[in-house]
Amino acid sequence: MLKLMRSAFLSSVFVAVAFTGAYAQTDLSIEQVKDGLYAIIGSGGNVGVRVTDEGVILIDDKFPRNFAEIQELVGTVSDLPVRYVINTHHHGDHAGGNVEYINIAEIIAHQNARDNMVRGNQDAPPRMVFTDQTAIYLGGVEVRAFYMGRGHTNGDAVIYFPDLRTVHGGDLLHGIAPFIDYGNGGSSKGWVETMNNILALDFDTAIPGHGAIMGREDVMNFRNQMEAVRLRMADLIRSGMPKSQASDRIRTPSLSWTMAENGLFMQRSIPGFYDEIAGELP
Ligand SMILES: [Zn+2]
Repeated sequence: MLKLMRSAFLSSVFVAVAFTGAYAQTDLSIEQVKDGLYAIIGSGGNVGVRVTDEGVILIDDKFPRNFAEIQELVGTVSDLPVRYVINTHHHGDHAGGNVEYINIAEIIAHQNARDNMVRGNQDAPPRMVFTDQTAIYLGGVEVRAFYMGRGHTNGDAVIYFPDLRTVHGGDLLHGIAPFIDYGNGGSSKGWVETMNNILALDFDTAIPGHGAIMGREDVMNFRNQMEAVRLRMADLIRSGMPKSQASDRIRTPSLSWTMAENGLFMQRSIPGFYDEIAGELP
């Protein structure tokens, strides 16, 4: 952070102003999820904080501007340094903090997530990647990262805390409505299968990429809505709906995602979603 500020600002006066501003604009808070597991909520993706006797493991690191406050909030639950960061995927609200954490911790992501970062010219892609699964063993704690298939992107990591029966789903789980990033390998068909794989894990609690902590039922409901919205789009296309009407006609009060504001998540995904479903029909 200091290095960045020194290069970004020419005088100490501006550093002081920028620092105050950074704190004034932010709205982060930390809440306990389980013993030894916390979530940092607010601007950007939800950060998982797994505390061990040998250091801290973070799941995601929000935007670069959030680094100082993440560090401060981690400091309220552990005196030990952040040793590892696992990126759930490449999006800047989840992996943007890599530009700072790359200097003090080992960052790990799925190979495809790293490829997406490199293709998108994102700073500080991880030095370590995995393909099927990997794990960190630190201070007697196991944190496992799985690749369970396509969904939000083609490089989503599902993080599993087996002793706590908890998962961090990244943006495979979303509190309002999901975004299918077709430009980076997203797939609604893959997403349902990936959800089935997540549900095969033994867990009772889930940290979503955005929104409030979920229970297993919420994760099941999320999976079911993905399936339902796919069936609805297929029915509409079969009835002859042109792509230009999909955004309006997909809306139905029984599927909360389709009612999310225009421009948000599901709505943003609609053109690609139409093409994906149309391509599946005989
Ligand atoms: Zn995302």
